[in-house]
Amino acid sequence: MSNQRDQSDFSKSSGPRNDPGVCKRCALLGPTCCQLSLGNEENCFPLSQAEKERIQTEVNSSGGFAMQENTEAFIGNMCQLFPDEAEQVRALFKPRKFHFRLAVDNDGSCKFLGPRGCVIPEEARPYYCRLFPVWMSGDRVTFFNTLTCLARKEALNQKKLLESVHTTSTKVRDLMGRLRLVWGLPPRPGMKRVKKTF
Ligand code: SF4
Ligand code: SF4
Repeated sequence: MSNQRDQSDFSKSSGPRNDPGVCKRCALLGPTCCQLSLGNEENCFPLSQAEKERIQTEVNSSGGFAMQENTEAFIGNMCQLFPDEAEQVRALFKPRKFHFRLAVDNDGSCKFLGPRGCVIPEEARPYYCRLFPVWMSGDRVTFFNTLTCLARKEALNQKKLLESVHTTSTKVRDLMGRLRLVWGLPPRPGMKRVKKTF
């Protein structure tokens, strides 16, 4: 659930994909991207209204979310996620206003983390969760350089990383387009248009 700041850093909480491979092994080893350090909640990635409503529909739950102030640390992290779009980011996340994030329990695990992984169907999970540990830097597919991610640690190169978390550059670009749309960021020049429906 982190806001992975080495390329960027918004943390998720353990074994998000119900994955029989690397994510499952990662969950056996220790904290994963579905857990954050207590006290670090402000650095959880933001959840748009559309993502929140979709989760509520799919899991039939009104819990699992928390209101979080747009602290300077949070805004700073967001600016690192979108380094050449700081102005838009600051306009979207104004200081002392609030946004939604995923709620965590007493050990920092996402409230949607069950014993067998994320309880939300994959297509209804937050886009950030679906992208992690992959991200985009401008038009380039990249990844968070986080050593707590086993997939990142084991991958010999970016192609292997994408394979290990069962994604492709095309899917990443599509998910990022959707994330930008629901987070309120304009499409980047040359970016393929995405539909407003999910
Ligand atoms: S919503 Fe699911 S994938 Fe995202 S942090 Fe929570 S448990 Fe992990
Ligand atoms: S391997 Fe990476 S993406 Fe998979 S659960 Fe661990 S931290 Fe998350």
